[in-house]
Amino acid sequence: MTRLIDGKQLAASIVAQLAAETRQFEEEFGVIPGLAVVLVGEDPASEVYVRNKGRRATEAGFNSIEHRLPADTTQATLNRLVEQLNNDPVVHGILVQLPLPAQLDEREIISLIDPEKDVDGFHPLNVGALASGQSSLVPCTPLGCMMMLQQRHGDLSGLHAVVIGRSNIVGKPIAALLLQANCTVTIVHSKSRDIESICREADILVAAVGRPEMIKANWVKPGATVIDVGINAIEREGKRKLVGDVDFADVESIAGAITPVPGGVGPMTIACLMKNTLTAARFQMAPIKANKIS
Ligand code: NAP
Repeated sequence: MTRLIDGKQLAASIVAQLAAETRQFEEEFGVIPGLAVVLVGEDPASEVYVRNKGRRATEAGFNSIEHRLPADTTQATLNRLVEQLNNDPVVHGILVQLPLPAQLDEREIISLIDPEKDVDGFHPLNVGALASGQSSLVPCTPLGCMMMLQQRHGDLSGLHAVVIGRSNIVGKPIAALLLQANCTVTIVHSKSRDIESICREADILVAAVGRPEMIKANWVKPGATVIDVGINAIEREGKRKLVGDVDFADVESIAGAITPVPGGVGPMTIACLMKNTLTAARFQMAPIKANKIS
């Protein structure tokens, strides 16, 4: 029988565990981990994400800091804010909500964030660390996918993972993590040929495409684990609905396990942001701990 991988439930248990670890952290260092989220403009989807992140940060026991800037913010103003947060000792994690308005350069901002506070894991130093198999702050969505896969399979060694999509935020880092976990990894993208038959060979199929319900049952090997990263807003029967990149109703009967949308990868992404914030805070406190010991 197909198993539903309940991201919502797993995310809630991760945040509860983090809350306990945060209390220990506070006892040890006398400091509350701080997460600063910067939102520029009024994109409705981003507003929802930022609100949910703030809520989860509070649940994890963090100091949740929000900076809201108008849509016409200049690069200089945003850069100044990021530099200020880099230098603020109560801030351990910085997240600039993407996408940014067109006049702002995302790459410039990402590169400006202190890599030790880069809880999104997008800074080139963290990207390089991940690619070379060193410990780093790993992008939240791929980290969440790996946690769900590990919960389902335990050891992933030798499994064939096919990742659909090669974006810097999802496809590439997931592929790097799957490789680190000893999977045989294939990445397919918009220029790949015969995607369906490649996908049918997958023990693990990760869809990160941004095309509503593209993946059908005949793309999936019976018993495969399907992780649906896609979040697509569609209109159905006059109502707005969120669907994944996988046609859930079609694939559900053939997959061994599958993540729903919503309630799968989305909540895990936010939980992993909290996990990264505590990791970053611990990392920033490490020199203090070393000084205490010596
Ligand atoms: P993206 O930057 O647009 O990348 C999409 C990738 O899919 C690209 O590599 C593209 O190939 C590939 N692609 C597009 N059409 C294809 C096709 N017909 N066949 C095969 N490959 C195709 O998107 P993204 O940022 O990775 O996000 C992907 C999806 O995940 C979106 O729905 C997004 O909303 C969702 N998402 C969810 C979360 C979460 O927390 N759940 C987080 C991030 C993103 P090329 O490179 O050749 O163009």
